[in-house]
Amino acid sequence: MRSWTVGDIKITQVVEMPVEIGVLDGLIEEATPEAVQQVPWLHPDHADAGGQLIWSLHSYVVDTGSEVIVVDTGCGNGKSAPLIPAWGNLDNPFLERLGEAGYTRDKVDVVLGTHLHLDHVGWNTVDEGGRWVPTFPNARYTYVEDEFNYHRGIADENDISSDLAGAVVYEGANPDIRNQTRLVFAQSLQPCIDAGLLDLVPTDHIVTEGVRYVSTPGHTKSHHSVMIESDGQCAFVTGDFIHHPCQIGQPGWRSHGDFDRALSAARRAEFVEANADSDLLVLGTHFAGTSGGRIVRDGDAYRLEPV
Ligand SMILES: [Zn+2]
Repeated sequence: MRSWTVGDIKITQVVEMPVEIGVLDGLIEEATPEAVQQVPWLHPDHADAGGQLIWSLHSYVVDTGSEVIVVDTGCGNGKSAPLIPAWGNLDNPFLERLGEAGYTRDKVDVVLGTHLHLDHVGWNTVDEGGRWVPTFPNARYTYVEDEFNYHRGIADENDISSDLAGAVVYEGANPDIRNQTRLVFAQSLQPCIDAGLLDLVPTDHIVTEGVRYVSTPGHTKSHHSVMIESDGQCAFVTGDFIHHPCQIGQPGWRSHGDFDRALSAARRAEFVEANADSDLLVLGTHFAGTSGGRIVRDGDAYRLEPV
């Protein structure tokens, strides 16, 4: 289990599972095997010898000393995932691994979500006797209000298209996405709402001392990454703002899963340039290998140096 220290804060990666090679092929359309092979530093951690991308599903536990925060909660066990069938009905020992890291379910104070896609909210709940119940009974489940309302609008069939001017993909217009969003709400969010554990917060909200949301829209309407700062050091949990490390080498490579691909690419290019050769520890929510690294200049491009 990998962990990093940022000032007084400890961050631990808890892996749910590696993604089977091929499941996400084509998600980033520019990342063809031929194009990926032109980016040699991606092999072997982030791409195989044939140029197929390697991905991971994991959470980060941010332990400030006074609070335990779980950032994103993977796919979960036994969930319905018709949109990505390989991620449905899973049976992974994620909670056992969380326990091995020192965090039992009752010790989690905050669940923090970057966005509401099925692979980021799954361990919000567990099946107990045929009923979905909150996994972390003492936690505040925290989401940015705009992000929550956007997905709720899709699930509820509200006409939110006027909200989405300029979006490349109107997710709500896709019946498969609408159905998946309803399942996400029913299985992974509503039980937390019913238990009174949901907190909706404004954009760029400060969660606790040293931990704050940073607006990184594009993958979803109000996607937020998470900045962690302590004693002059900082780390940044990407969420799907940087979906795969190939987008550090090529910030313009866009994901089919993005709500607004042009916005996502533009914000990513700014971020990579602004943080290159800095001490910022970048923790990728789907990065395989060490999952953490620093952005360094590499000729006229950039790469991720593992940390
Ligand atoms: Zn994701």
